[in-house]
Amino acid sequence: MPKINVLPKNISELIAAGEVVERPSAVIKELVENSVDAGATEITVEIKRGGITYMSVRDNGSGISREDTPTAFLRHATSKIKSASDLDSIGTLGFRGEALAAISAVSKTEIITRTKNSPIGTYFKVEGGMQSIPEDIGCDVGTLIVVKDIFYNTPARMKFLKKDVSEGNSVAAVIDRLALSHPEIAFKFIRDGKLCLATSGDNNLKNVIYSVLGRDFAASLLQVDSESDGITVKGFACKPVFCKQNRNGQFFFLNGRLVLSKTAAAALEQAYKNSAMVGRFPCCVLQIEMPFNMVDVNVHPAKTEVRFADERRVFGAIYYAVKNALEKGDTRPEIKTKPFNPYAPQKSEDYVQSTLNLEQTEPPKTAEVKYNFTLNQEKILPKMQSSQEVVYFNSNHEPEEIKPQVTTPETEVLEHEPIKFIGSVFNTYIVAQMGDAVYFIDKHAAHERLLFEELKTREQPVQNLLTPISVALTKEEYSVIINNADLISEKGFDIEDLGFGAVIVRAVPAILKNADIPLLVTEIAEELSKKSVLNIESIGDILHTAACKAAIKGGSQSSDLELKALAEKILKNNQIMYCPHGRPVAFKVTKKELEKQFGRLG
Ligand code: ADP
Ligand code: MG
Repeated sequence: MPKINVLPKNISELIAAGEVVERPSAVIKELVENSVDAGATEITVEIKRGGITYMSVRDNGSGISREDTPTAFLRHATSKIKSASDLDSIGTLGFRGEALAAISAVSKTEIITRTKNSPIGTYFKVEGGMQSIPEDIGCDVGTLIVVKDIFYNTPARMKFLKKDVSEGNSVAAVIDRLALSHPEIAFKFIRDGKLCLATSGDNNLKNVIYSVLGRDFAASLLQVDSESDGITVKGFACKPVFCKQNRNGQFFFLNGRLVLSKTAAAALEQAYKNSAMVGRFPCCVLQIEMPFNMVDVNVHPAKTEVRFADERRVFGAIYYAVKNALEKGDTRPEIKTKPFNPYAPQKSEDYVQSTLNLEQTEPPKTAEVKYNFTLNQEKILPKMQSSQEVVYFNSNHEPEEIKPQVTTPETEVLEHEPIKFIGSVFNTYIVAQMGDAVYFIDKHAAHERLLFEELKTREQPVQNLLTPISVALTKEEYSVIINNADLISEKGFDIEDLGFGAVIVRAVPAILKNADIPLLVTEIAEELSKKSVLNIESIGDILHTAACKAAIKGGSQSSDLELKALAEKILKNNQIMYCPHGRPVAFKVTKKELEKQFGRLG
């Protein structure tokens, strides 16, 4: 046997480092957890190339005093526990005193930090375990740690790193989780110069869920809030119809820390038994609070897996909390018809059935019945000049020409024929008579089209909003709005960056002043984010969206006066045939047709 050696410090440090910081996301997790432990209310994380060349975490927490700064980088140096008995009641995220030592052993690490009691900050550098002498530096209270060139001195580990994108995604996932577990902290995440996530720190979990998990999840939430056996379970779970094909949407936070727990997942899934489809998994963001001595967190070096002193008790608390929420909050699933797809080939019958529903679809029961009841509505067709081709962009951003599907010739509408407003049906369709025909007009499609025409043709007057409206956005929406501020402002919107995932809208094109502004802004963001290249076409899409959002809605109450005006405008302008999405604006049924159906014509 070779002689037994005690390894020199720098080598033992490198070995230990491998356990704590196997990849950039692990570094970020440790650094952000330190910021949380330091009482920060704002934390900004920045990475470049997936964190491989550059990572930084800045916080406004307590800072570290000049004399403690070099100590913080030693192994087993921690301010969080002093004795073995403290291990039974760990209230901080860190306690092992390993992270800074490990990180600085395998990278070029710099720290700038200041406590509130010290007039000047400290700059300190550790490169591959070699410490510099602390120096004075001017800075705010708090800490900034910059980690460059991770694994530059351990090429073997470097080889295990994945592509920049995967490492970056892993960091993003870590930030998502930390942001979700700390709605009271404003997080910012900047990746290769782009702001990817910003939370407001307003302590509203729902807002963080919206920023991190997106609108669909946020819209499907059931509130969970219960306490039993000294365990509180709070947060949100999804409605059963929103269950996913995997467990990626399950987030459990135990005393503020994201944890993995088979017990918690099993309790959640048990609660959905009989209401979710077999093979589907519920989503949740649940914050579980229990006395520290009921949990053993010191199980895994990455500290994500937990063991409970009494698994059954925890299972019961989660199960009943979720079951309760489900019983209280879920509604009967709705049956929804297929949304209209302007790109799918349409048959004229489709329109008749879906809007007018006058058609007898049952086949005649007896042989004696020789006729059927199909009304032959004449569709009002777009009057297209050759230069006015309707070009849409499909989901692959390739132009698609839509050919009109119906070939009935256009019916001339006389200029000054009187229009008799009859009323509206289903709060959606205006019924009016003009000349020898009855018209059914889709009030939303009609209004939308008129707004669109106005927005498109005129230099729009801008309306300053009396009260500017702030809008909270998801991270994608936020970045697309901020990155396209110029394009949007050209169309008369004054939108300003509020930071933390929110914008403030100060002015809109005057004709949109009554629109649902937050909805409008999120829709514009969605529209823009679908585009790979932004150009003149995108402006058209913004206008479509704006018109659509500002238009009166089908199914809503409208005054007769409003509807009458709308009918007049539509019927007097036979250029307006389709809404901006290509749906017909109106149908007509001629007097002759009615007479035919009622057997009045020979
Ligand atoms: P641990 O978090 O397990 O205590 P670390 O190596 O992560 O160990 O940190 C060592 C010590 O450095 C911490 O206990 C804390 O006192 C100090 N520290 C680290 N990061 C920060 C920070 N962002 N703000 C204030 N103090 C910090
Ligand atoms: Mg730590």
